Amino acid sequence: MSDTTNHQRIIALEAENAALKARIASLEARLQLNSAPPQSLTHTTPTATPELSAEEYLRYGRQLIMPQIGLPGQLRLKNTRVLIIGIGGLGCPAASYLSSAGVGTLGLLDHDLVELSNLHRQILHTLAYIGRPKVLSAIDRLRAANPNVTYIPHITALDKENALEIIQNYDLVLDCTDHPRVRYLVSDAAVIAGKTVVSASALKTEGQLVVVNKPTSSEEGGRGPCYRCYWPRPPPTESVVSCGEGGVLGPVVGVMGVLQALEAVKIISSGALEGQRAPASANEAAAGSPGTEGPSKPEPASMLFFSSYSPTPFKTLRMKGRRADCISCGTPSDPALKITASTIPDYDNFCGPGPDAVLLDPKDRRTVMEVGEMIGRENVVVVDTRDETQFGITSVGGSRNVPFVLWQRGGKVPEEFWRAVEEEGNSADPQEEGEKGKGTKGKEVVILCRRGNDSQEAAKMVMEDPRARDWKVTDVVGGIGEWARKVGGVVEY
Ligand SMILES: [Zn+2]
Repeated sequence: MSDTTNHQRIIALEAENAALKARIASLEARLQLNSAPPQSLTHTTPTATPELSAEEYLRYGRQLIMPQIGLPGQLRLKNTRVLIIGIGGLGCPAASYLSSAGVGTLGLLDHDLVELSNLHRQILHTLAYIGRPKVLSAIDRLRAANPNVTYIPHITALDKENALEIIQNYDLVLDCTDHPRVRYLVSDAAVIAGKTVVSASALKTEGQLVVVNKPTSSEEGGRGPCYRCYWPRPPPTESVVSCGEGGVLGPVVGVMGVLQALEAVKIISSGALEGQRAPASANEAAAGSPGTEGPSKPEPASMLFFSSYSPTPFKTLRMKGRRADCISCGTPSDPALKITASTIPDYDNFCGPGPDAVLLDPKDRRTVMEVGEMIGRENVVVVDTRDETQFGITSVGGSRNVPFVLWQRGGKVPEEFWRAVEEEGNSADPQEEGEKGKGTKGKEVVILCRRGNDSQEAAKMVMEDPRARDWKVTDVVGGIGEWARKVGGVVEY
């Protein structure tokens, strides 16, 4: 067997092992629950409330003594099942604080493996886990700090086939993903399953947080707005930037993840979720709910914005309530549009092509090795569409920088591009100056970006422009990352 096969086998066995351990823990917890006599909350001494062990009183003492939590709040935390979707920059701090706070069951969902470039912000993962599932890395670290929690691994991507089945097993969902397509999927499935979602995102130096489908007495139906009430349609693909492309500061995404955990603790300990879940067992039903408070007090829907470089970094905007005609949580004028368990949209199509889309004909794409050999030839111009900062970090010798934002802004080939190609053309053939495009006949323009996605869009725009009709226009498969790995001379970041 090859090393790769062995490695994959190890990962699969680890996942299986973790799932079995989680199952044992869950069965043991159920056994304990079934054998414990119903307890009344009027008993307040440790010996009279076996729901918390003596160790747990000590462990959670600092938060237990706060009036906002108290024993009822701590018991609610212990009896709640929280699903964290995405164990990255948001999910790591969120999971840490929820595990530490004593949430009884934590489900962790992510299909990704740990990479070196994750470690600047994904604080649960370590070097030892590079190449292994993020979910297992996180569970190992969390269990080392708090073994009282039942951890359930979901080493899978969330899709329309499994979303509802997974989400309905939990009381509260934290959306810690970094892509809008997942946010719509989580919100739609959570509305159908009747679950609340604490959703956050972070990009560059800013973040935002919103709680969707929240139990509230101020809205008809007892629920606050869903994600689609705020943003009915997903943004076009070209405007979607994920952390990998756009960059993010570790502490910024950390702040947002911590705020998600805080919001979750507030929602759970207040008793706001109690109307939405059926008791897990007959004994639990007999014991009654841990506290006396019902759904949260009426409060208007709001969204929190964090702008880390602003002198006033936190702002809360009051939002409109639910949209009556929302296709997810409301009643659309055309009933056929209503999203149900069997009609959860195909988000890949809905949001446009995914991160590794192929827009160009293979004959119009070149490998990094091919372009590496073409560099320095007359009539070959390499145009790099990464932003100025990235171009400043590393670039292919002789390439010209025309940032992709300029292409997006005008929806056409930017003047800066024509100027760059013209300058290269004139330097190659100083006899033909003046008229734009002249002196560039027979030229090949190669467009390069970070990963080979933006470059395809830019190349397509150039091909469709009559000013480039005499040129060969190509892009580079895999972008600067692939260049760093195969050709060298630039750094991978
Ligand atoms: Zn809605």
